[in-house]
Amino acid sequence: MSAQNLYGSVFAMHLDPSAEPSFAADVLDIRMMHAALAAARLGGAAGEVPVGAVLVRDGGILSVAHNCPIRLHDPTAHAEVLVLRDAARRERDYRLPGTTLYVTVEPCAMCVGALVHARVRRVVFGCREPKTGALASAATLGWAVPGNHRFAISEGVCGDNARALLQEFFRARRGA
Ligand SMILES: [Zn+2]
Repeated sequence: MSAQNLYGSVFAMHLDPSAEPSFAADVLDIRMMHAALAAARLGGAAGEVPVGAVLVRDGGILSVAHNCPIRLHDPTAHAEVLVLRDAARRERDYRLPGTTLYVTVEPCAMCVGALVHARVRRVVFGCREPKTGALASAATLGWAVPGNHRFAISEGVCGDNARALLQEFFRARRGA
């Protein structure tokens, strides 16, 4: 059984043919998405919408974060922005070429813009976000970004887990 069958379908849209993943890359994708899911759970436990992100280069994690706008009083403190800021500071470089961003939920327009500015090579997300998702749902900015930087996009990696986390969170909040 392949990793895709074990963990749900991996529907990949690769704009860059050279980024076509091997089976090993799929295993890495799942491992990194599990790290993002763990971060998302921490966020949910802290009362934030449970979204987690991991930024990876050469198979190693540069940064992990969960959504944190409420605690930080910062509307831009989405998990994606937080890992980009943290990694850029560590790398002492405002651009992060050769990196892959894993995020449990489809990024919003703000985060897609930040990912383009950071020159991230590839974005992998779990489940779609119908209202604000800006790669496949409410907009498809990954294909129409200004400038000439485009990143490869893969979706559906552990998507069921990511969606279940969101559903549990909002169900608990409604019940509270
Ligand atoms: Zn965002």
